[in-house]
Amino acid sequence: MKERITKYLDTLINKGSVAIKLQFKKPRKSSKKYRFKEDPLGEEEKYSPIKGIVHKFGNRILWKITYRCAAHCQHCTRTRQIGTPDGDLTNENILSGAEYIRNHPEIDEVILSGGDPMFTVLDTMDALNELMKIETVKVIRIGTRMPLHSPDSFKTKHFKELLKKLRLIAKKRRLLVLVHINHPDELTRKVLNVLHTIKKTGAEILTQTVFLKGVNDNVEALEKMCITLYHNGIRPYYIYRCDYVRGLERFIVPLRKEKKIMTDLRKRLSGPAYPIYVIDLPDGRGKIPPPLDFWKNTGSSRTCFDFDEKKIRI
Ligand SMILES: *Cc1c(COP(=O)(O)O)cnc(C)c1O
Ligand code: SF4
Repeated sequence: MKERITKYLDTLINKGSVAIKLQFKKPRKSSKKYRFKEDPLGEEEKYSPIKGIVHKFGNRILWKITYRCAAHCQHCTRTRQIGTPDGDLTNENILSGAEYIRNHPEIDEVILSGGDPMFTVLDTMDALNELMKIETVKVIRIGTRMPLHSPDSFKTKHFKELLKKLRLIAKKRRLLVLVHINHPDELTRKVLNVLHTIKKTGAEILTQTVFLKGVNDNVEALEKMCITLYHNGIRPYYIYRCDYVRGLERFIVPLRKEKKIMTDLRKRLSGPAYPIYVIDLPDGRGKIPPPLDFWKNTGSSRTCFDFDEKKIRI
């Protein structure tokens, strides 16, 4: 994956944000000692019935609209694909994706993903138009980092059209926008204003965060991030353990440390400001919350479920 960064993020790095620098700049010396696989979650081989679609769970699917993003996050779970044209969908791809969804009425939720579906606004609007014709789709989720990669884009004509469309969709379907945010430095006034604008369409905004070594593996940063979101009407929703993807080795935080942070954070944060901590298990069970330090005999014992850090290492 090539380095790619927006002017806006560059300004924040120049002002001294280490958390943003670590997420977007390649390290000067990159280690070639890879321990992980490229696609540990098996998105390509096992679960993709049709170009763009990942159907792993019965009722909900990912629809990857693009592999392009305004900036490239060095910790991206899809580093193998980001910035390549391989994920571009033709009009036919979009129609056949919609056809697949129509033929599977058990799918009640479609998660537009990528890449960043808000970066390729026009294709995303085509996909949204198709989805609105399918009665069985009750929930649309859009995963994006565009508000913090490029907040100024939201003033452009295409984005005004997208926001208009979101307003129409929110009247007819449940509409969630999941914004990937990792650190309070990302929540500038400009970014919060964009999030407010999206919220005004009637979409609900949730966030997803990834534990990243050196970026947010401390309780103070996460506390500040969650409180800022909460006070601004945004629900901190997920915090993931970083996936064991090739090239991401340097970002992995020790599991014990993450569990301690999440345990401490529970005391510091109001309930609705506290995100769910999950690990996307490579065996297909999905995003599973690991036991925290509140209980004795969890973690290594088998009282909850068979969860052992060594076992999930790849
Ligand atoms: C995360 C994910 C989903 C959504 O799962 P939730 O538990 O509803 O967040 C759906 N499909 C795939 C392939 C996913 O990775
Ligand atoms: S915006 Fe999302 S998909 Fe794009 S590089 Fe960042 S984490 Fe990956």
